[in-house]
Amino acid sequence: MAKANNFYSEILEANRLLTESNEKLGLFESALAYNRNILHIKDSIFTIEKSLAETKTADNIQTKFMKDEIGRQEAKIEELNQSKNRTEITAILTAAFLIVISILAISLYRNNQIKLKTNDLLHTKNNELQAARDAAVMAMEAKTNFLSTVSHELRTPLYAVTGLTHLLLEENPSENQKEHLKSLKFSGDYLLNFINDILQINKIDADKLEALQIDFNLKKILSEVINSLHQSAKANKTKIVLEFDEDIPSHLLGDPLKLSQVFINLIGNGIKFTKGGQVTVIAKLAKKVEENLTIYFEIKDNGIGIDKERQLTIFDSFEQGSIQINREYGGTGLGLTIVKSLLGLFGSKIGLKSEIGKGSSFFFELDLKSKDDLIDDIPFEITEVEYDFAGLHILVVEDNKINQVITKKMLNKKEITCDIANNGLEAVAMVRKTDYDCILMDIHMPGISGEEATIEIRKFNRLVPIIALTAISLDDSLESFYAAGCNDVVTKPFKPEVFYQKIGENIFDVKKKIEA
Ligand code: ADP
Repeated sequence: MAKANNFYSEILEANRLLTESNEKLGLFESALAYNRNILHIKDSIFTIEKSLAETKTADNIQTKFMKDEIGRQEAKIEELNQSKNRTEITAILTAAFLIVISILAISLYRNNQIKLKTNDLLHTKNNELQAARDAAVMAMEAKTNFLSTVSHELRTPLYAVTGLTHLLLEENPSENQKEHLKSLKFSGDYLLNFINDILQINKIDADKLEALQIDFNLKKILSEVINSLHQSAKANKTKIVLEFDEDIPSHLLGDPLKLSQVFINLIGNGIKFTKGGQVTVIAKLAKKVEENLTIYFEIKDNGIGIDKERQLTIFDSFEQGSIQINREYGGTGLGLTIVKSLLGLFGSKIGLKSEIGKGSSFFFELDLKSKDDLIDDIPFEITEVEYDFAGLHILVVEDNKINQVITKKMLNKKEITCDIANNGLEAVAMVRKTDYDCILMDIHMPGISGEEATIEIRKFNRLVPIIALTAISLDDSLESFYAAGCNDVVTKPFKPEVFYQKIGENIFDVKKKIEA
């Protein structure tokens, strides 16, 4: 059974038992044969075990080789995996990059589109605004030109009203007539101031004014303004006191005409609203760095004062203290507006301190430049000079017939004789022939203007005083009259006192200077 089933250990055991039993039985040949069987079987088993061991070894070697191979393959796979990862990352990054770039490009494109649209919109708005601005500028220009023309046209008849009233008042009117004439004069003067103020504001609004840099003497300017207001101060029994800091250099650079206007308005108001009191004009050197000066100005009075509420508005156009004040003191409500605008032109701002019943103080600082300081001391004195006009011979250059009559009458009143030239050319010819004491030159005339006629006259006569009489219009500039050779300018319509004063100053004071 063991043989049939190849059970070697049972076969071996059976052969070993047979060997032992045959040996004990003395059957040595059989015992040897069974022993040989044992050896044979053992050999076979050895061979089998050996081949099994070899196979095992070979298997082991193969397994090891395969393990190694698997390891190598795994390493390769790992490597491949890694490189695959890298490629993937690169691919992802590239994709992300491309997406970002595309988003950027899209947003740039959209931005651009929006920009273009906004630009278009801005362009349209800009055009609209420009058109609106042009329209506003044109409307403003139309307004200023209209105002300028209207006030200009008003001046000629006004000149007749004020001039004739003055003449009538001097021709011994009856008491009754005197009252009416005084009212007429008051109304005429009021209209005259009003028109001049409107023209001035008109000029400021039209930006036709600019601050000049002219050589001037501040003390002289202040003295002249105070002198010109002396009459009204006297009528109000008010004293004008000038406190002038002598440290202020006598030669300054600035715009004396506009400065005078500021002072005339402020000192004029001080006098107007102060009865039996005092108006003090202060000019003080506040700072001096080389030729750069800051001068502090104050015009204070002890008159009626201005209440707190009104202090905020009185610098606005047509604003006055109150209806009562206007009734009692008159005025147009434009004076302080002009002052504020003119000071604005100099980069300065006006301040105000006032208490009702106690008085008012208007103050501001001005930055001016000093010129090389020459000793030119002008004493401050209120001069009320009575000139003796009798015997003077003057040339009146004027195209308007009514004005000719009035001017002639006003001159005759002071025993001045005069010739009349109807236009510029006639005037030049007459000055060549006759030696006049003075020429009153209208500026706006048909043919050559007064300015051109003055230039012609100055070519052969440098001495005769020429006073320009002009209704200053929008485009006129006082500076150009002086540049043409005029000695002085009187703005039309003028007050008779100013008219005589200017003639006297220019004939006698200039003569005095030339003689000296
Ligand atoms: P007006 O021509 O009416 O004087 P202004 O613009 O010069 O116009 O002044 C405006 C108002 O300010 C005046 O009506 C007056 O009520 C007030 N005012 C100006 N200056 C003084 C002053 N020195 N004292 C009192 N009130 C003043």
